[in-house]
Amino acid sequence: MPSSSSRFSLGGVPVRRGETCDLQLKISETYTGADVSIPARVIRARQPGPTVFVSAAIHGDELIGTGIIHELLSSGVPLKAGTLILLPVVNVFGFENHDRYLPDRRDLNREFPGSATGSLASRIADILMREVIQQCDYGIDLHAAAKTRINFPNVRGDLNDPEVRRIAKAFGCELVIDGTGPQGSLRREACRVGCPTIILEAGEPLKVETSMLEIGMRGVRNVLIELGLMDGESVPPPFQSMVRKTTWVRAQVGGFLRFHARPGEIVREGQIIASNFGILGDHQNALVSPVDGLILGMTTLPAVKPGEPVVHIAIPSKSINTLERAVDQLDPDELHGRLRSGLAIHFPTLDALD
Ligand SMILES: [Zn+2]
Repeated sequence: MPSSSSRFSLGGVPVRRGETCDLQLKISETYTGADVSIPARVIRARQPGPTVFVSAAIHGDELIGTGIIHELLSSGVPLKAGTLILLPVVNVFGFENHDRYLPDRRDLNREFPGSATGSLASRIADILMREVIQQCDYGIDLHAAAKTRINFPNVRGDLNDPEVRRIAKAFGCELVIDGTGPQGSLRREACRVGCPTIILEAGEPLKVETSMLEIGMRGVRNVLIELGLMDGESVPPPFQSMVRKTTWVRAQVGGFLRFHARPGEIVREGQIIASNFGILGDHQNALVSPVDGLILGMTTLPAVKPGEPVVHIAIPSKSINTLERAVDQLDPDELHGRLRSGLAIHFPTLDALD
């Protein structure tokens, strides 16, 4: 097991217990032959304990995780045990171009476990598997929504795995979504090789929103406290529900949307959540929620074609009445209350037309 060994090295650089080391993990080369490397900080406590990685920007335009790691570092990570590997930018190619993908248009997060003789993406995945994931006992991979979408902060993981379930709950998001993740994703392959890993999905791409940053910071700290790497009191969410099913509401016709609900809001079956207007303002149709649920994600682009996703709704395991009461009782000055008022700025809601 990685945690039982006192020896540790990353990219050929040894880091001893009690040391903190910044290093570059070479993953590729440019056309001119220069090294392309992932920047890493390795923090090792004197006391043995689990090895944990926190990675960001595997999708190069999802900057929230980079912001979370920066904030963690600037506020200090006083490890009492174990080893922490911080990777603020995994997809350095995409990060340079504000792009989700690699230069060959492949999604790095669909290429795991990768291969030493495969494509550019596959080789990078292989290096990450060997150098980082196989040395770790746990992992947290930080994401934002894809282009033109926003995600209400949620943690995802395979809840059938008790250790994934443990860190997913400890992170402290209101919603914990069950699932193994897409084929070829880092978290799926990490779990397969014995490194229980969760992801955070929070906010929009190309942004670091204040409340998302706070959620992420609090969550990573909560997990490090749970695993015994840090001292301190973890901060639980005001409520938490598992989610085993989600559904998308899609546009029926081409048009321009007005929203009547926003991320994090409880919606009821039959409730109008968006109205679709023709380009000259004529009301075309109403989009209604097919279920009782909580809005997990939305488009940020009001122009839609038939079939395009508009609203992603989580169907929580807990009773919707219980969740509604909990949301109604949120303190507007506390983080989970501020999170919702911050999102309201992005979504000017209007009364629904019948
Ligand atoms: Zn992502």
